Amino acid sequence: MGETSGFPCILSFDVEEHHRIEAVFGLECPAVLKDEYARRMEATTRTILDRLAAVEAKATFFIVGEIAQTHPKLVRDIAAAGHEIASHSHDHRRVDRFSPADFREDLRRSKDALEQAGGQAVVGFRAPTFSVTRQTPWAIDVLVELGFRYDSSIFPVRHDRYGIPDAPRMPFLAAGNEHTILELPPATWRLAGQNLPVAGGGYFRLFPPLFMRRGLAQLEAKTSPAVGMLYFHPWEFDIDQPKLPLKRLSKWRTYVGIGRTLARLDRLLARGNFRRAVDLADDLLASPDSLVRFAIGSAVG
Ligand SMILES: [Zn+2]
Repeated sequence: MGETSGFPCILSFDVEEHHRIEAVFGLECPAVLKDEYARRMEATTRTILDRLAAVEAKATFFIVGEIAQTHPKLVRDIAAAGHEIASHSHDHRRVDRFSPADFREDLRRSKDALEQAGGQAVVGFRAPTFSVTRQTPWAIDVLVELGFRYDSSIFPVRHDRYGIPDAPRMPFLAAGNEHTILELPPATWRLAGQNLPVAGGGYFRLFPPLFMRRGLAQLEAKTSPAVGMLYFHPWEFDIDQPKLPLKRLSKWRTYVGIGRTLARLDRLLARGNFRRAVDLADDLLASPDSLVRFAIGSAVG
C-alpha cells in the first residue's frame, strides 16, 4: 500500500469467541451458544481477512491459544496471508488471576499451540483485558523468559478494570522485576490532563471517528517513536450475533455502535501505512537506547 504518512499504525485483532469477554466472567454460557460464537468468530475473522487483503494491509492477530487447537486452519490461513500470529493467552484469563508459575504454563501452551498451527514464531503478547498492571510486574519477566520480544498489554489510561495511567503513550521499555520488554501501548489522545483511549474496542464504536484521528495526529506530532497501535475484536464486527445476558452497563459497553464498526474499519484502511507489530518491534529494538524505560512495579516509574 502507499506510504500515505510517515507515521506507521498497527492494526491488531484480538481473536476470541464472544463468550470469552471479561463482562461475562462468572456467567455460565450454554454449550450450544459457545459453538455458535465459535462459528461466528471464524466467519467474522475471515471477513476481516478479506477486507485486509483488498487493500494489501498486513496486521497482527493476537489469538487465544485454544483457538489454535479448535480452529488450526483459521490460524494457518491468517499466517499464510502474511499477517503476524501473536498470543492472547491460552484460555483468555486475566493475568492477575494467575500465579506467576501458572501464567508461565498458560503462556507456554498458547505459544506452542499457535506456533504449531501457524508455522511461524510467536513473539508478541497481549493480555486479556489489558491486564498487565502495577500489580503484575512479574508478567514482564515471564514473557522475556519464554522468548517474547514485545508486549502490548499496558493501556496508559485510567479505567476500572485495567490500565497504568502514567505509563508512556509511545513505545517504551517496560521493566518487570528482573527483565525489560518492548511495550507497544494502544493509542491514546491526551486531552485536559487525561489520556483518552482512542485505540479501538468500545471507544472506536462509541466515539466519533474524529477522536481516533485527533489522537493519532497528536501521537504523530508529539511522541517519539510515533506509532498508532489500534485494536479490534472479530465479534465487534458481527451485527447479528446472539447477545449475551449481561447487566445493563456491561451490555451497553459491549454492544454500543456495533452496526457501524465495519464501515469505520474500511475508512480506516484507506489511510494506508499499516505495519505488523513484529516488524515495528524489530526496528525499534535495533536501537533500544532511544526508548524510554518505565518500571511497572514502582509507583515512581
Ligand atoms: Zn480478549
